[in-house]
Amino acid sequence: MSEHLPRETILRRSLRHRCPRCDRPSVFKSAFRLHERCPHCGLPLEMEDGWSYGAVPLNYTFACVVWVLPVALLTLFGLLSVKTAVIVALLGVLVVPVLTFRLTKALWVGIYYAAVPGELRVRKEGEKGDVH
Ligand SMILES: [Zn+2]
Repeated sequence: MSEHLPRETILRRSLRHRCPRCDRPSVFKSAFRLHERCPHCGLPLEMEDGWSYGAVPLNYTFACVVWVLPVALLTLFGLLSVKTAVIVALLGVLVVPVLTFRLTKALWVGIYYAAVPGELRVRKEGEKGDVH
């Protein structure tokens, strides 16, 4: 048996806004803010300032894939005029990131811990690590 949680488990927990370590809800303390640490197990959820900005490219990639790409394809196949497509795409890139903000921010936490699952271990007193 692996010493670490499977990456799929970590990502699944994150997508459900649950702590990647203890699987308890919620990693959010308000609509758009993460707890600095899990209130149940103390796992760091916010690292240094700017750490969670990694969720921003995830968010815009998601908006492009689920919104802009379909609008571009509809335009390409002549189902939308270019003018309508530009307006719809611009509205989408303003609205979709707001709607998916929590999803991508929680996913960013999951991606981090899936990349370094050893960080999920509960540190024994005096053991190095978990310095966030
Ligand atoms: Zn936890």
